[in-house]
Amino acid sequence: MDVKKIAIIGAGIGGLAAALALQRRGFRVAVYERAKEIREIGAGVIITANARRALQDLGVDEELVARSSVVSVFHTCHFATGEVLRAVTSEDIQQKSGLASLGVHRADLHSVLMEAVLANDPDSLHADCNFVSLAQDGAGVTVKFANGASTQADVLVGADGNASAVRSFMFPEEEPKFNGQVAFRSLIPDALVPASVRNRVSVMSAGPGRYLLTYPLRGGKIMNLVGLVQSDAWAAEGWAIPATNEEFAQAYAGYEPDLLELIRNIPAGDLFKWGLRDREPLKTWTVGRVTMLGDAAHPMTPFLGQGACLALEDALLLGRAFAASETVSEALKRYEDARRPRGTHVQLSSREEGLTLQDPSKKRRTAQDRGLLDYDPATVSV
Ligand code: FAD
Repeated sequence: MDVKKIAIIGAGIGGLAAALALQRRGFRVAVYERAKEIREIGAGVIITANARRALQDLGVDEELVARSSVVSVFHTCHFATGEVLRAVTSEDIQQKSGLASLGVHRADLHSVLMEAVLANDPDSLHADCNFVSLAQDGAGVTVKFANGASTQADVLVGADGNASAVRSFMFPEEEPKFNGQVAFRSLIPDALVPASVRNRVSVMSAGPGRYLLTYPLRGGKIMNLVGLVQSDAWAAEGWAIPATNEEFAQAYAGYEPDLLELIRNIPAGDLFKWGLRDREPLKTWTVGRVTMLGDAAHPMTPFLGQGACLALEDALLLGRAFAASETVSEALKRYEDARRPRGTHVQLSSREEGLTLQDPSKKRRTAQDRGLLDYDPATVSV
């Protein structure tokens, strides 16, 4: 295929993985990131078998395993008593889905991908490039950035996250909306984790209108803590709005004492909150030579822990679609046909699971229960 350059907007997990998938198939890629420095925030992410198969194909799974924690058991616990209601071991997951789930520091996943992209092409990443507009014709796409710079490419991929400017440019009538949930997040050094929480490895604790999740990162040196609370009062967005231990603890009044102790032990300055955004599925992700992936294409609530995993799946399928095609339009059609049904399905399933999780009378269905971990992005047809 006669493609000289594929431009990707956003150097997050999806954008970097897409760059790597395309480079490994011989395409020249340029990634444009709005931040002045290309890096990830301090938070955890669970990477499940479906996404690990993408990482294996990209040649970085082994390196990621070396920097992560295999989560040996996921416990679902009663929110008030801590009683274990369900335990799913790593062996169970491996037996059913092929590979264990990893507790990963986002910065580690991001570095592993970025190192691989730069090893292929040291000039492929461009910071301080905030996408503002595009124009396209039969010959290519012209992209403009807030700093006045512009660039030409044969194809443009919007990998710029939930509040995607590429998506808003292509579909201006549709905007993200606050979905009535506030998230708290923190990384807590192991020494500050109460023994009963550490011993349970991973605790998922859903009380009325609230949900709390812990799991280890970096071989157990750090505990990741995420809380999601229903709220119609507060809707600011962004991953780094400071929060206080007291407001977090208050939102979880009635929770088991050891989880409240964990919340109170969070070191000053290490607790953040933000309002979650949701968007409706789109009928198409592609307009001419422009498409999207990851949260830009299928932003989802975090209740199945699959947003980053799907971004990794998208990335591999985008690379495979370009490798299998004669023209840009064929490649983008193959990519969207392979990915949009799955993206929409997981997006809607996550929304449904969010309602279930916060109503203790309903039965929980994890990503594994729903068969999502069985997907193999390296072999599905494209
Ligand atoms: P992002 O990570 O948002 O990256 C987008 C990039 O684009 C950023 O670098 C941004 O700076 C850049 N950008 C934005 N606008 C522009 C612009 N105009 N110009 C240039 N660059 C731009 N997923 C999982 O798989 N497992 C989990 O356990 C999990 N837990 C989660 C817990 C919480 C509380 C939340 C909120 C999400 C969780 N997710 C999880 C979801 C996951 O974090 C996202 O789905 C994932 O980060 C999406 O990756 P992305 O690359 O599409 O977007």
